[in-house]
Amino acid sequence: MKIARIKVYQLDMPLTEPYYLSGGRLKFEQLDSTFVEIQTDDGLTGWGEGCPWGHTYLPAHGSGIRAGLEILAPALIGQDPRSLDHINRLMDVTLPGHPYVKSPLDMACWDITGQGGNMPLWQMMGGAQATPVCVNSSISTGTPDEMIALIRKASQKGYRTHSAKIGGSDTAADIARIEAISETLPTHETVTFDVNRAWTPGTAIQVLNSVDARDWVEQPCETLDQCAHVARRVQNPIMLDECMHTFGDHLEAWKINACEGVKVKPNRVGGLTRARQIRDFGISVGWQMHIEDLGGSGLADTAAIHLAASTPEANRLASWLCHYHLSIDPVPNMGARNEGGFATPPSIPGLGVKPDMNVLGEAIAVYGV
Ligand code: MG
Repeated sequence: MKIARIKVYQLDMPLTEPYYLSGGRLKFEQLDSTFVEIQTDDGLTGWGEGCPWGHTYLPAHGSGIRAGLEILAPALIGQDPRSLDHINRLMDVTLPGHPYVKSPLDMACWDITGQGGNMPLWQMMGGAQATPVCVNSSISTGTPDEMIALIRKASQKGYRTHSAKIGGSDTAADIARIEAISETLPTHETVTFDVNRAWTPGTAIQVLNSVDARDWVEQPCETLDQCAHVARRVQNPIMLDECMHTFGDHLEAWKINACEGVKVKPNRVGGLTRARQIRDFGISVGWQMHIEDLGGSGLADTAAIHLAASTPEANRLASWLCHYHLSIDPVPNMGARNEGGFATPPSIPGLGVKPDMNVLGEAIAVYGV
């Protein structure tokens, strides 16, 4: 089996309402998503999606994916898409770094490998069944009352785990947010306070040692070293996200005891192949993980849910579904959806999701014959 053709599509996906991170420092209104369709010489078609959460969240942006695909896609023509590790090594030789560019290609190769082998992705990744995965809400930064109202709204949709976005220059406001949310949350619901790297180490230590809450705290500061410094001086378990790009970053975080868990996001680390390696390392060192993507439609969400569903329950906390924040749905009625706080991956071979071409439109680039 050989890759004969790679088609690229672009879609602007507006959010249903503006979304704020880091105490309002980062505002998001629309996501720029890139869809990749890989066609093989024996008639199989695989799909991938790359969607950074805007261009201010990480060193990644939508047009960067398309520019990178101009270099990577021609190199993959003629390769066997089922040779996943070889495909990843070839991409690394052709374009070192730029992991987020590689993710949609790698995802489409997984889709084809699953279809060719007649297995759903959750099984290829080691799972025994299509386990329903706990999903978490994502709560935009606001006043304590605004954030509690959003959490209540999410609870009504079945969410029992919440990711509350905090962090900013106003230390007192963050203390008020943490205390109000912790006090209000029903005992059967949990929250992670996601700082999105907004605090200096001094602010993090001051805030976290001022509150009674012992909930998870995510990415308190910009760098891995800063987060490790904080982890040694607070009682909250620490989750790392934005500072983790390579397998080496995860190894280093474990060596210096920087965290008790990580977010595993295929688009951040370079695709499902790399995400699975990191997931397996996380299992071996006893981390608890959130397995989800940076952003995207139900297609990217479903790929991450396959990986989450194949992960032991003891090692996963919850998964966020980005597509509920979008006003359009390029994969209507397909893939992993929130059903009472849980999402289940499809059990048909491969990824189990294909875009509606009426929503996606015409390809903006075609590589191969
Ligand atoms: Mg985060």
